[in-house]
Amino acid sequence: MREEINRLMELQTIDRQLMELELSLSSIAGRVDLLREQTQTNQKELDRLTEQDAEIVATRKKAERELAEGEVRIRNKRMRLTLIRNEKELQALSHEIETLKDTNLRVESELMATLEGADERTARVKELTEAITKGRAELAEAEKEIAAEVDALKASIRERRRSREQVAGNVEANLLSRYQMIFSRRAGVAVALAKGGTCQGCRMRLPPQLYNEIQKHLAIHFCPNCQRVLYYEG
Ligand SMILES: [Zn+2]
Repeated sequence: MREEINRLMELQTIDRQLMELELSLSSIAGRVDLLREQTQTNQKELDRLTEQDAEIVATRKKAERELAEGEVRIRNKRMRLTLIRNEKELQALSHEIETLKDTNLRVESELMATLEGADERTARVKELTEAITKGRAELAEAEKEIAAEVDALKASIRERRRSREQVAGNVEANLLSRYQMIFSRRAGVAVALAKGGTCQGCRMRLPPQLYNEIQKHLAIHFCPNCQRVLYYEG
């Protein structure tokens, strides 16, 4: 039984190494993911601003065209004004001119409104464009930097997994699945030392009879409190 325990402890060592390797791998990838996310967020905002800008430019062009057309109309009507002698027609035409003037004033203020916030938008576009360029360079650099690290980690993980398979293959199936369950539930400690009558995994005092049995190494024993596999170092 001592051999079985030794295999479990070996398994636990490998599993902990695997856990650490996988953690390193995800934290390294996390750094790159973060850079990628930031650049994507910036790109989205830039796209939105660019789209907004295009809409504003279209609105401005339309307003400018309307304004120019309005002015031509006013000019034409003013010319006609000089030719008309009929008082009623004169009044009607004057009224038309006033209406056109009002319309032009309204279009003019629309045109002014399109200029509002333009400087802020331009500044933000510049800021975002720079951040994106910088972010992309950083991302490429980080990807290059971690590539070797990632490869090395993946190779270590593969190698450790092979060792794990070998060791696990020699552990009895029920014990193995029990071990795996405890390992994942007890933060990577599935095998604990029984010392001075106490489980070193959870610090719980063990029943004296159980403690005696553990010392004999005749069977696999579990802590009644934390369910860990217990072993004794004589
Ligand atoms: Zn315990």
